[in-house]
Amino acid sequence: MNRRHVLGAIGSVGSLGTLAYATRDPVESLEVRLWLSDGAAAYDGVAERTLEYVERLMEFEFWTLEVSFGGVVPVSTEDGARVTSAGEWPLALASGTVGSSDVEPADDVNLLVTDGQMKRAPTGYGLPHIASVGGARHIADLEPFEEFVESGPEGDVERRIVPLQTPTRTIQILLHEVGHALGLHHEHGVAFRYGDAVVATPMLSTYAFSSNSPYDHSRCGTSYPDPSGLKWRLSLAFSTCARRELASYSGGVRPRTPREGE
Ligand SMILES: [Zn+2]
Repeated sequence: MNRRHVLGAIGSVGSLGTLAYATRDPVESLEVRLWLSDGAAAYDGVAERTLEYVERLMEFEFWTLEVSFGGVVPVSTEDGARVTSAGEWPLALASGTVGSSDVEPADDVNLLVTDGQMKRAPTGYGLPHIASVGGARHIADLEPFEEFVESGPEGDVERRIVPLQTPTRTIQILLHEVGHALGLHHEHGVAFRYGDAVVATPMLSTYAFSSNSPYDHSRCGTSYPDPSGLKWRLSLAFSTCARRELASYSGGVRPRTPREGE
């Protein structure tokens, strides 16, 4: 059953927009499983920190979250985007093995964290049910969620506003790819003015800070502030627009353009 979902997702790489799933009711429980590459596993605490952030930031009243650790997998590249876009991670999930390791997919999100670079896009990739991202060393540097996000370094607990730093950007991109795996698009993100800063939510991410960004308003109608002259900050909370879409997630997939996978 799990594997059939993943096979369906792979089909969509070659036939974008043509894949149709029967309409189902929104899911009651959401299954997210995390794996680490060999490179990612070399840093202490990456799995614990990732699971902690995912558990807190994907926790919504409309589902019960089931987060688990799948193990360390010997993928052939640490590139957090290429491992999925070139097919290796999707094929590992579909076949149930990578190298000599077994891979047992989760129903909803199968996330691989690698030690890939986080300087030049793409740094991660998301397809229906499948996500990967680099930056394990930066996740290892993140503060524990309670101390860092909960106490609100930027003074807004509700919107989970954090400074723009490599570790915070890495965990935001991880959430971004998880969002793609659940059918979210870049336009489900928002940017908003907060004091002297423009703040970007996970699906929009740093696209918000480019004055020639292809995105100027969300699917839910919100327009984005001009970032010129403003400081840049990140929100680790999905926008209301994204949460509305997640609330209707039924385990299926929606058409989108390849560009949105990044
Ligand atoms: Zn994207």
